[in-house]
Amino acid sequence: MPQDQVAFKISPQKQDQSSESGGTSSDAQGVWINISNAYGRCHCCFFCNKMQTKLSKHVERCHADEIEVARLLAMKKGSEERKNAFQLLPNKGNYYHNKRVFASDYGEIIPVRRPSNPCDAHDFVPCPSCLGYFPREELRKHVVHSCIGRDLKSLRPTSFEIRMQSDIVSEIYSQNLKHVPKLIQTMRQDSLTMVIKHDDLIRQLGENFLTKLTTMDDTRKHHYVGQKMRESARLLVQFRKTTKSDASMDDLLHHQHNDSVVEAVHRTAGDPDMTTEDSDGCKHPSVALKLGHDLRKLAMIKEGIGIKKENKLQRKEAVKFLKLMDRDWKNLVSSPALSTISARRLGKVEELPDSEDISNFSSFLAKEIETISTLLSTKKV
Ligand SMILES: [Zn+2]
Ligand SMILES: [Zn+2]
Repeated sequence: MPQDQVAFKISPQKQDQSSESGGTSSDAQGVWINISNAYGRCHCCFFCNKMQTKLSKHVERCHADEIEVARLLAMKKGSEERKNAFQLLPNKGNYYHNKRVFASDYGEIIPVRRPSNPCDAHDFVPCPSCLGYFPREELRKHVVHSCIGRDLKSLRPTSFEIRMQSDIVSEIYSQNLKHVPKLIQTMRQDSLTMVIKHDDLIRQLGENFLTKLTTMDDTRKHHYVGQKMRESARLLVQFRKTTKSDASMDDLLHHQHNDSVVEAVHRTAGDPDMTTEDSDGCKHPSVALKLGHDLRKLAMIKEGIGIKKENKLQRKEAVKFLKLMDRDWKNLVSSPALSTISARRLGKVEELPDSEDISNFSSFLAKEIETISTLLSTKKV
């Protein structure tokens, strides 16, 4: 093993020197990452899975008949588009190579930039937009400021949303959801729970929350995540009523349904203009705001699954939906909801505490201070 090669878990005793990527060995385990200045850089070719030092030339020479490559070669020479496409070219092959390495628990992973110091390969995660592997703590900075693979530059995803998408893309949440099924069992078994049970995206949202909310204790977390899933299910039920369909959350997150989604959000938040039941203003404006955040997360999950499954249509639908949300949501949902909240605050009469209560509380505090001071002085602390 090269000296500057850093292995984790059990160091592989002998490295497969073949040009095939992700060489495996039944008697060795470990995933490592080379630090910078260590040998020439190799990239894994997406089309033949072979490691190449000059990937661009290799792809031009050997895979020109692939649609993706033909499209890339047809781009105007010297154009920004062509430059970006060639820059992104290694990421896709490296991404699948890295996934194979992590799955077999053996081999070297290939990040976008090699680290200058030894570090754990498991700290590197894929960017959901360009598929390049970056250190976990640098991912948001890359996504927001320098990722050339992002479709939606104006959208500023939160760290939570980026980590959530990255986990989906790296298949940490593979088909099997670990925590949500147990939570669903403990939930009230009603029609909303039935909706949750049959909707993959809502359950995935719950799974992401359960895994990411590490600071909450289990009881609070289960209550919170259960409510989150129920809110989304409630919205889906309203959407089905609005569109007279049996849509799934995946169907809902389609740009063509934007108007129906806004209508369903207003209905879920109890907007009288939609329900025509009373004229008391939007009953639960905070629900409309919360649903906006959840829809954004759900759309990002859909995009992540689209990337993972190489389903371009699914990815495109999610991106277009997010684009429309970014453009219209403020005017159609957030601003009216926030106006209702502040109008209610202004109209609310704030009762001041009774003067007798204040006086009692003040003398209680004075007595307490006196008692504690005496205690401290007698114990000479
Ligand atoms: Zn190749
Ligand atoms: Zn990126």
